Amino acid sequence: MKVCHFCGNKNLKNTQVQYTYKHYDNFLVVNDVPCEQCEYCGEHFFKGSVLKQIENEFISIHSHGKKVKKELIIPVEQYSEIQSSHN
Ligand SMILES: [Zn+2]
Repeated sequence: MKVCHFCGNKNLKNTQVQYTYKHYDNFLVVNDVPCEQCEYCGEHFFKGSVLKQIENEFISIHSHGKKVKKELIIPVEQYSEIQSSHN
């Protein structure tokens, strides 16, 4: 029987989510990644093989220059800078 590692709830449902893999300042966003979600606390659980596949894809893109279908431009701010503008 599967149990949520966080809250101990036994009701996990199969779903698909957007997964963001991050290594230093490099990112890979993968849509529709299969996982199980706790129906009580909402925590996601991914199979090791799924995470390994995403990691391999990340290496292909960032180390071997693999071309991807779509890229996002992500705004980056420093909190100390955005903080002062609201005073
Ligand atoms: Zn839970």
